[in-house]
Amino acid sequence: MNAYPLSTIATILGATFTLPSDPMIDILLTDSRSLTYPERTLFFAIVTHKGNGHDYIDDLYAKGVRSFVVSERQHSAKYPEAFFIEVPDVLRALQQVATAHRGSLKMPVVGITGSNGKTTLKEILYQLLHSRMRVGRSPKSYNSSIGVPLSLWSIQQTDEIALIEAGISLPNEMEVLAKMISPTFGIITNIGEAHQENFSSLRHKCLEKLKLFADTETIVYCADDELIREGLEDSGLLSRAIGWSRKDRSAPVFVRSVETERDYTLLRLTIRGGEETYRISYTDEGSIHDVLLAITFLQKVCPEVLSDKDAFAHLDPISMRLEVIEGNDEMMLINDTYNSDFDSFSIALDYMTRRNTEARPTVLIVSDIHESGTPPATLYARMAELVARHEISEVYAIGDELQEHRQFFSVPTTCYRSTDDFIASLPRTDLHGKVVLLKGARSARFEKIVRTLEKRTHQTILDVNLSNLVHNFNHYKARVPQGTRIVCMVKAFGYGVGSYEIARTLQEQRCDYLAVAVVDEGKALREKGISMPIMVMNPERSAFVRLIEYRLQPEIYSLSLLEDFIKVADALGEHHYPIHLKWDTGMHRMGFDPGMIDDLLALLQQTSSVRVASIFTHLAVADDKTEDAFTLQQLSKLQGVSHRLSAELPYPFYTHALNTAGITRFADHAMDMVRLGIGLYGISPIADEAEGLRPVAGLRTVILQVQNVPAGDTIGYGRRGKVSRPSRIAVIPIGYADGIDRKLGNGNISFRTVDGTLVPTIGNICMDTLMLDVTDAPSAIEGAEITVFDDTLPIERISDKIGTIPYEILSRLSPRVARRYFNE
Ligand SMILES: *Cc1c(COP(=O)(O)O)cnc(C)c1O
Repeated sequence: MNAYPLSTIATILGATFTLPSDPMIDILLTDSRSLTYPERTLFFAIVTHKGNGHDYIDDLYAKGVRSFVVSERQHSAKYPEAFFIEVPDVLRALQQVATAHRGSLKMPVVGITGSNGKTTLKEILYQLLHSRMRVGRSPKSYNSSIGVPLSLWSIQQTDEIALIEAGISLPNEMEVLAKMISPTFGIITNIGEAHQENFSSLRHKCLEKLKLFADTETIVYCADDELIREGLEDSGLLSRAIGWSRKDRSAPVFVRSVETERDYTLLRLTIRGGEETYRISYTDEGSIHDVLLAITFLQKVCPEVLSDKDAFAHLDPISMRLEVIEGNDEMMLINDTYNSDFDSFSIALDYMTRRNTEARPTVLIVSDIHESGTPPATLYARMAELVARHEISEVYAIGDELQEHRQFFSVPTTCYRSTDDFIASLPRTDLHGKVVLLKGARSARFEKIVRTLEKRTHQTILDVNLSNLVHNFNHYKARVPQGTRIVCMVKAFGYGVGSYEIARTLQEQRCDYLAVAVVDEGKALREKGISMPIMVMNPERSAFVRLIEYRLQPEIYSLSLLEDFIKVADALGEHHYPIHLKWDTGMHRMGFDPGMIDDLLALLQQTSSVRVASIFTHLAVADDKTEDAFTLQQLSKLQGVSHRLSAELPYPFYTHALNTAGITRFADHAMDMVRLGIGLYGISPIADEAEGLRPVAGLRTVILQVQNVPAGDTIGYGRRGKVSRPSRIAVIPIGYADGIDRKLGNGNISFRTVDGTLVPTIGNICMDTLMLDVTDAPSAIEGAEITVFDDTLPIERISDKIGTIPYEILSRLSPRVARRYFNE
């Protein structure tokens, strides 16, 4: 690891160093939740629109951190042992430290930018290079104004090449990144729609990205990409650019043909005049594009790699997914079995620590790590130290190298020769209720362990992509004026997607409030460790005591409910307990009538046991353009109530009205806060407004059995499905009790097989199963997967078919459908 004396960093930042001792700093921390080694950490108290790093100093000091970079003066009496470096701008200071470190690095630094595929390309290059040289690279996809300095900091003097990603979402960001990275070589993947809202045109964005390469020797790109080619020309960089091409025979890498088969692709290329064929295991266009960029780069910088055809044939799928799977015996499994280098190991441990909000015992199942360049003794000593730091309770170590170095581990460690030996020992292993991290090299085949440990109540799985949830959250956050608070609606089990995992993710994103429908939903979140403010939309009188006990905040919609709540709050000795007042401005569901304001004020002025935290209303037709007059009238009624109450109440409160459709269409009326629901889950409530959202949920299941049925026979209850030709009929374990509406039977909907064929339902849908006509889909065999909906098979297909809205389809998926959460 890099380590600098604190005094050196102080000098870089122009501060005077006054301490008697000079601690070594090897961790630059920007997110207080990732703290591991307090005494070696320098915390940067960055201020962003998401939060103020200075708020975490107290907590970090209590945990032993002593070195801080701040922009707000701190009381040194409060932190007698701390050293504060005061700067005008903490983010800038972080970047200065990274720039100084970059200046000391001698190896070539490769800057990678573009709209998509940066991480994939980086990981492909890593896989191709790391057996020959020491490769330093950005962790995960750290490519922002904070991520880039942290990436640079992770590069060691002993690395022989560094791969650094740079991503921008705003004009003028790239200059800052370019100064820090100062790339020797550059690669640009493509220019797509991502973050387009902040750029006047694709061309504008392209020119911004190319600023990374102002002082770069060689730039690699796809020469057939007109936009990038013109951008390079306009930036005066074309003479330094080399590209691959399908059209230009004189390109350094000329693509003669690309033949994609079911599970591999053949690339026939002419590289500097010589004909070469590569077989790669990717079949998707994006990855193939990235491999061609990698080849173009390598023929210039490291041509010997190109003769290693085997390395290309064995490129692993690039999956940055850390999956969280519900295990049997109440385990929580965190599956990270795709890459096994040391950096990803430390990321996975960090992830597990954050995930474990209930402080359950943690278990690590790990295989030998194969990382060239580091002697095994060093590698495993570092691993053991991290394990101890993260307070892992037990380790199950699989492989000869780990066995040989077991003495490094201070926590109880059991060794196994092979994955199969470990599986054989499972009946004697107690993993009940624990959080289990699986971190294995591909060759260790840890998926076998996952299959053994995962909960198998049902073969039907709802995949939930938490990274996309975060994307959608930020998408809406960017649509409302800065500083607007956000309530995330996680009612009805998170619209059917799952409340705890969603809540935990949103808590990490520092959303301001969560809202659930009933007290029990809020209680369940509290019991699992969700500590942020939670509103309850429909608080039952009988549960008021429990509501207060769990510090949930009620929505109050009538005088009698308010009276009752005040009685309970009084009896429990509460003072200023936060409540939220709901106003009926036209929806006519629940709420105070604006005419009741005087009675309400009278009641509020008599008590100090409650206090109005916010007032709000719910819009009935925000999604409907033809009804805008009605919506505006609702908004103005609420504003009227708000003015009146703020004149009379001696304290401030928030006012809010917008749901998802409201945010999309009436962002000017965001007021203090908005309530985001369906959009979080990647579904737009407005037909032509899906742009920019990413689907969060996908439903899949497997075929239980396939039968050959002769022409003329019938399928299922009531003999409703008649087959007119000899047919193959598949049964899948999902029925109306799982949330598949009975109206979808008899061919009213089709699902997708693994080879992409759409197969219709046949016969009536049963309670737990349904039948599909798979006569035209030869890949539909027993055990094969069937997709009900996902990112390419939208859930709206289903809701449209039966005349409802996607909200209903999602929220009615039965709890017995296993949810599987992952991050990308
Ligand atoms: C469900 C709900 C929302 C969110 O609505 P979406 O259309 O899902 O964004 C907002 N406010 C209230 C009161 C709700 O009940």
